[in-house]
Amino acid sequence: MLTEILMSLFAIDSFRLWRRATNYPNINHLSQTLEAPALLDDYRVISAPGVDVPESVLWGAVQWADDEGVLVADLIPAGLPTERVLGLLHQSHPTDFSQHPFAPGITGGVACLVHTSILELYAPPANENGDEVSSQVKWIDYAQSLKRYAPWESALLLVEGWRLTHAERRQVVGETPIIRREVAKALFKGSFEQARLATPIVLGLLAWLVWSDPMWGTLTLFIWMIQPLIIFSSTGFNTGALRYSLLRPLVELWGWVESLGSTSTEITDEERARLTESYQAQISAGIERFFREPVESCPLCQDSQLTTHLTVPDYYQQKPGTFNLDRCMSCDHIFQNPQLTIEGLDFYYRDFYDGLGERGMDLVFGATETSYRQRVAMIRAHGSPRQWLDVGGGHGHFALIAKHLLPQTRFDVLDLSESVEFAEQRQWCDRGIRGLFTEMATELSGTYDGISMSHYLEHTPDPLAELDACAEVLDEGGMLMIEIPDPQSKIGRTLGRLWLPWFQPQHLHFMSTGNLSGALEQRGFEVHEVDRHEAHQSVDFFFTAIILLQRIAPDFSMPWRPQRSAMEKGLLALWRALMTLLFIPLIILAVILDKACRPLLTRPGLSNTLRLIAIKGVDSESDQEA
Ligand SMILES: [Zn+2]
Repeated sequence: MLTEILMSLFAIDSFRLWRRATNYPNINHLSQTLEAPALLDDYRVISAPGVDVPESVLWGAVQWADDEGVLVADLIPAGLPTERVLGLLHQSHPTDFSQHPFAPGITGGVACLVHTSILELYAPPANENGDEVSSQVKWIDYAQSLKRYAPWESALLLVEGWRLTHAERRQVVGETPIIRREVAKALFKGSFEQARLATPIVLGLLAWLVWSDPMWGTLTLFIWMIQPLIIFSSTGFNTGALRYSLLRPLVELWGWVESLGSTSTEITDEERARLTESYQAQISAGIERFFREPVESCPLCQDSQLTTHLTVPDYYQQKPGTFNLDRCMSCDHIFQNPQLTIEGLDFYYRDFYDGLGERGMDLVFGATETSYRQRVAMIRAHGSPRQWLDVGGGHGHFALIAKHLLPQTRFDVLDLSESVEFAEQRQWCDRGIRGLFTEMATELSGTYDGISMSHYLEHTPDPLAELDACAEVLDEGGMLMIEIPDPQSKIGRTLGRLWLPWFQPQHLHFMSTGNLSGALEQRGFEVHEVDRHEAHQSVDFFFTAIILLQRIAPDFSMPWRPQRSAMEKGLLALWRALMTLLFIPLIILAVILDKACRPLLTRPGLSNTLRLIAIKGVDSESDQEA
């Protein structure tokens, strides 16, 4: 039974990767005409340390990039080592990579062709006095980040007939085990961790099968070994897959041994030690100071009949503390009580959207492209704004999609964090404004005819003040789009503490449709459309599974967790790895359930998200002036 399952999995995997390999855009540098392309000066080759790109490759690549409208092409020699190309194929389908603006950046680690307009936005790293590892890793980080600067115009390009010299090959792969490990870690990030987890399991399983059932076990081993041969057959890659296949068990075992001893793909050991010290000092000074005095009455209707809605710890980062949500018996408003102080907010937000958490959150924001498109469609249905402000827009993910779909509109992003500076630098928005919206309202008034606040209002300590600011900034006819979690979702009440949108400690207020509409009307807005169906994000069950996993096997490696001995840490990490493996089927099931139940869950009252558009009515002040 196990042999059949494994053989099928290996076959499916081979076919999947073979399709990716055959779909690589490619040029053949040996068959290029010996004439420099007209636009040669518009592009530069930025190659990894120690790599020399032949002129014919450059010419062919420039010609291809110009024909295809590509601004950044990662150049992949056909003769790159097998394990490197397998890693690339595991990361992404080349077409998905080009078409999805938020696809994570990937590189073959050899060279990329970059249009000069992109180099002006983002210069390559200076290659001075760095040791070999750090210059190699810096180059990889640079090449991977290029996708962010050319989200719609990046591609992976296979160059047939291009073989690296022996010295270049050694340089690209890494000459010592430590360099090889660091390079692989930088190139493959999450998949590096997965491979480190999966390799001993696959090898162990195969060895056990061969021992217990020599005939079928050997056949299964054989199918696993020839995977690379299948994957690269009739493709433009020429990686030496035959030799790799013959030696695969040894090569992968050796690769796995070399990968051991590295702890984190996010930060260096020194940075981690520094972070740990700072967090532990903050925690030992007492976390009581992170909380305000609880309030006695509802912040919306001032009624004093409050009841506890739920009390939860921080499931997401697992920082210390428990958080309480109260519900107003009179207006049904749900809010955090006691609320966090400014110091508390700083403590709990730290390393979530930036630092340790930045890469993970980038993936989360990138995964919601559909909902960004839905928001643009909703805006379009109610007018054609000239100048739009996305409040709390972070790195500008929404602005990027909106700019693409509404090229006539200017999109600015306002956020408290430095993310807006990156957004402006990458040209994901026209202008990035750093500051507090409520404090900047007077200054911004009269500039914009549209404002959006997506998953922002629930994070603010005083949502009514934010709505006041919207009323101040917008003139008559101005459009306001708001998206928040829908606290009236019955799924939310059923899943209780395991429902993602309660999201403690970050979500401070949960406004119902009625309360939000009422507050908008009081400020001169007229609500034109309420979406409590399509806006639903199909992630309820997925995150329930993740929260359960976090509760059962918390990540003890984080610098704010109670400190343990190295032995305890090792055991806890092993426990977490085992539980993660056990949870994989449950997580897959949850994802299927989320998708399958979408028709049901997109009903008002079940949906987890509420999105609305309100238009500012006649302004009484400007009425008097006129
Ligand atoms: Zn109330």
